[in-house]
Amino acid sequence: MDKRYYIVTLGCQMNEHDSEVMAAILDNTGYISAAAPEEADLIIINTCAVRKKPEDKVASLLGKYAALKESNRNLMIAVGGCMSQQEEAAKYIRSRFHYVDLVFGTHALPRLPDLLEQAGGQRDTVIDIEEDYSGREGLPVAHSGTFKAWLPIIYGCNNYCSYCVVPSVRGRERSRTLEDIVTEAADLSRRGYLELTLLGQNVNSYGQDLPGAVTFSDLLAELNRIDGLARIRFMTSHPKDLSDQLIEIVRDGDKICEHFHLPVQSGSNRILEKMNRRYTREHYLNLAGKIKETIEGVSITSDIIIGFPGEEEKDFLATADLVEKARFDNAFSFIYSPRKKTAAASYPDNTTYREKELRLQRLNEIQHRISKELNDLLTDRVVELLVEGPSKNDPEVQAGRTRTNKLVHFRSTTDRTGELVRVKITEARTWNLVGEPVD
Ligand code: SAH
Ligand code: SF4
Repeated sequence: MDKRYYIVTLGCQMNEHDSEVMAAILDNTGYISAAAPEEADLIIINTCAVRKKPEDKVASLLGKYAALKESNRNLMIAVGGCMSQQEEAAKYIRSRFHYVDLVFGTHALPRLPDLLEQAGGQRDTVIDIEEDYSGREGLPVAHSGTFKAWLPIIYGCNNYCSYCVVPSVRGRERSRTLEDIVTEAADLSRRGYLELTLLGQNVNSYGQDLPGAVTFSDLLAELNRIDGLARIRFMTSHPKDLSDQLIEIVRDGDKICEHFHLPVQSGSNRILEKMNRRYTREHYLNLAGKIKETIEGVSITSDIIIGFPGEEEKDFLATADLVEKARFDNAFSFIYSPRKKTAAASYPDNTTYREKELRLQRLNEIQHRISKELNDLLTDRVVELLVEGPSKNDPEVQAGRTRTNKLVHFRSTTDRTGELVRVKITEARTWNLVGEPVD
C-alpha cells in the first residue's frame, strides 16, 4: 500500500509554497497525500522562526504527534523550514523530541527523498541544515489551488534588519532568472491559472545578483504580456528601494494589481535607524503619497512592530501619527519578539510587555477606524472579484478578492469559484465588504 503524507504549514506565503514543493517531491516518490495526520505515515511540520509564537506551536504539535507514533510504529515525523535551519533549534528538537526522525532546513528540499530514506533506516534523528543553495530550480510544485498560484522570484534576504531572523534562515539573495520565471508563469497560464503572486522577501532587489541589468519592473513588464493571466500580485516591497518605474508599471500594466504590501515597521526615525531599515518616516510618507497620487484606487498595507527595544511613548506616538497620515488599508501589527543571533536581541529594553500590549491595542483601534473609513469609500462602486469559493459560514455566500486584495462577500446560489465576477458594493465593514453581482 502507498505511504501517505500530511504537511502542516506555519508562517508566510514562501513557506506555503515550499510545502507545495515538498508535496510534489513526495508525490513523485510514491507517497500519496493523507486527509489528516492520523492517517499519515509521514508528517512534516514546515516551521516559521520569525516570532516566538509559531516556534511554540511546533512543540505543541510535536507533543500531539508523539501519541500517533504509539499507534503507528512506522510513522515518520519530520520538521522542516525556518526554525529547523537554525543549528541551535535543530539540536533542541533532536534532544527534546527524540522521536523526530528528520530535521531539515530551508535549503534541503532537493535532498528530501534521500533524507527520508536515510531517516527511515536509522534510529537517530537525521539533520540537514547545510547552507547549500543548489538544486532548487526545476523542482516540481503541487499547486494547492487551481486558479491562483504562488511564484517565487527571489529567495533569501540581504537586508539584516536588526530584529529579523530571515537573512540567517533563508540565506543570501538569489534571483531566479527572468526566463525561468516567465516560462513557469506562461505554463501556469496555459493550465488555467488566472492569478499569480510573485514572492520575495524584498521583490525590489530582484535581479541585482543576476548578470545584465534586469530589474523587478522589467520582470513585471514581461509577465504582463502573458495572455490568459488576469492578475499579477507581488510581495513584499521594501520602502528603501521601491522605484518610480515600479509605480508606473503598476499603473500601466493591465494585469498588475493595484496593491502594495509596504511594511513600515515604525514611524519613529530613531527606532527605524536602530532597526536598520535604511529609510526615514519622511521618505516613507513621501513614497506612500507618490503611490497614491500615481495609481488611482491603489491600496497599501503594512507591517508594524510594536515595542522594539528602546521604543518610548514618544516613538510609539510617532508610529501612531504615521498610521494616521499614511492611511493604510490594513496593517499587521505584532509585538516585538526577540530572536537569537539577531543584533536587536542584545539591545536594552525597559518597556514592560503589558505596556507593549496596550500600545498594540491603541494602534489597532486607529487602524481599524481607518480601514473602515477607506472601505466606506467603496460603497456603490463596481469592483472586479476573483471568487475564492463559498464562505465558511454560509454556502450561499461566495467570497472573492478585489484587485486591491480586499475581501468581498456576495450572495449566490451557484458556486462561482475561480471566476472573475463584477459586483456592486452595498455595505462596508472593517474587515470585508458586501456586494451584489451586476452581470
Ligand atoms: N521581508 C519582509 C518581512 C518578512 S517577516 C519585509 O521586509 O517586510 C514579516 C513581518 O514579520 C515583518 O514585516 C515584521 O513586521 C515581522 N517581524 C519580523 N521579525 C520580527 C520580530 N523579531 N518580532 C516581531 N515581528 C517581527
Ligand atoms: Fe527581515 Fe528586513 Fe529581510 Fe524583511 S527585509 S526579511 S524584515 S531582514
